[in-house]
Amino acid sequence: MSSKELSDLSVERKECPKCGAIWINGEHYWSGTGKKGNELDLAGLVCNKLGDETCINPCNGMDGGVTWEKRLTELENDHPSN
Ligand SMILES: [Zn+2]
Repeated sequence: MSSKELSDLSVERKECPKCGAIWINGEHYWSGTGKKGNELDLAGLVCNKLGDETCINPCNGMDGGVTWEKRLTELENDHPSN
């Protein structure tokens, strides 16, 4: 593989100024882990609480993703404290 071919690939990288989430070629990745994310989960976890008009998450303001409440409930179910 030649490096010239690689450099011809255009990578579009966007970062949300509000929540720091990253989009690479239109795919959302979590800023902390670099793992592929889910825009709706991001909205539920971050953008719906912290986001404002500067948030670039297309799902900002939408319901339906994972929320902390849901996540905490799942954690409690997985690890019951007795
Ligand atoms: Zn955002």
